Amino acid sequence: THVDNPFVGAKWYVNPDWSAKAAAETGGSRISNQPTGVWLDSIAAITAPAGSGYTTSLSKHLDNALAQGATLAQFVIYDLPGRDCAALASNGELGPTEIDRYKTEYIDQIAAIEANSKYAGIRIVNIIEIDSLPNLVTNAGSEAGATAACATMKANGNYVTGIQYALSKLHAVGTNTYNYIDAAHHGWIGWDSNFTPSAQLFASTAKGAVGGVNTVDGFITNTANYSALSEPWVQPTTTVGGQNIRQSKWVDWNQYTDELTFAQAFRTALVGQGFNSNIGMLIDTSRNGWGGTARPTAASTSTDINTYVDASRIDRRIHAGNWCNQSGAGLGERPRATPATGIDAYVWIKPPGESDGSSSLVPTGPNNPGGKGFDRMCDPTYTGNGRNGNSLSGALPNAPVSGAWFSAQFQQLMQNAYPAL
Ligand code: BGC
Repeated sequence: THVDNPFVGAKWYVNPDWSAKAAAETGGSRISNQPTGVWLDSIAAITAPAGSGYTTSLSKHLDNALAQGATLAQFVIYDLPGRDCAALASNGELGPTEIDRYKTEYIDQIAAIEANSKYAGIRIVNIIEIDSLPNLVTNAGSEAGATAACATMKANGNYVTGIQYALSKLHAVGTNTYNYIDAAHHGWIGWDSNFTPSAQLFASTAKGAVGGVNTVDGFITNTANYSALSEPWVQPTTTVGGQNIRQSKWVDWNQYTDELTFAQAFRTALVGQGFNSNIGMLIDTSRNGWGGTARPTAASTSTDINTYVDASRIDRRIHAGNWCNQSGAGLGERPRATPATGIDAYVWIKPPGESDGSSSLVPTGPNNPGGKGFDRMCDPTYTGNGRNGNSLSGALPNAPVSGAWFSAQFQQLMQNAYPAL
């Protein structure tokens, strides 16, 4: 049967590949038993052929899950044509027009494997296409930071077509599959100008899938991002020195300052656009803990709004638009079901310790088998662009390409974990 919240009462699959890397780190055994997302980030990731760099195929992961006695496994569907149109670090293998390959060589193959009856007892959670639809809302027009690649993907419709196909096929696999669409994070679509248009685009997209809004079980926020779960002292209603903190440089008129309030409000907006009233939200808490010595323990007493906000906020980034290997970040809440109203689960979809992108260009070769690009948002010396208020990137130095193991980051994430390990 298809349950309302698949995370409740389930035993979650632990990816042995990630687990081994975590356990090999000093102190890593404290978290190496945590369930993390398995990213199907290319066609080769599905079958893991020899020499591909992948060690475990999708069917092997599901067989592993059976062997663990797991009843839930989390996969990230991430191979759209023209992937990652507003950044360069996770460019995909399919060109902007290769929608037919996406359908037949990628989604159809995943659906066929997930449909194997031996996996019917596993609740298969599919996280659908990180960062794609939000980029069409915020980065495909005349905004500061818009890119030609996003304009192309908006114009040719292949993000929408691809997601409709993924929703249709993966929903049709059976009652044991669950689709969660990526819904960015508060620091991206929390502004009025982006919030409702995003909900509308998600709704019109799902309504065009075979099965319509019933193909969608929920949404996930903060995937692979660093936005804090809760900001006790920096809320949209907070006033300091007679001024509302929405006017501060950090908040910059956003209606939300943290992921929990954003996810709950966005859920309501999505239902308002026609999604089923029982949809649930997931929040990726893998790297949004912001613990350690830099974490504020009380509200600032300053009456200057910028001083107050910068001293009181849990999120210690230079700018909320920064996304690559953020210096000072910590592991967030451990994965668990039903942590708050409207939230199906806190999950670790971005596997802690896997890089967001390289600090400098790494040529295609042994250290970059997938031909990942170089995004200067991963370069600690970069002074930014229109998507991060022209601020320093805040990225850690000496990072490998996206997805590759980044030991120094893993160690810092453990050190700054909140709750502490
Ligand atoms: C990379 C993927 C990787 C994922 C999880 C993404 O940024 O592009 O290749 O699997 O992160 O680490």
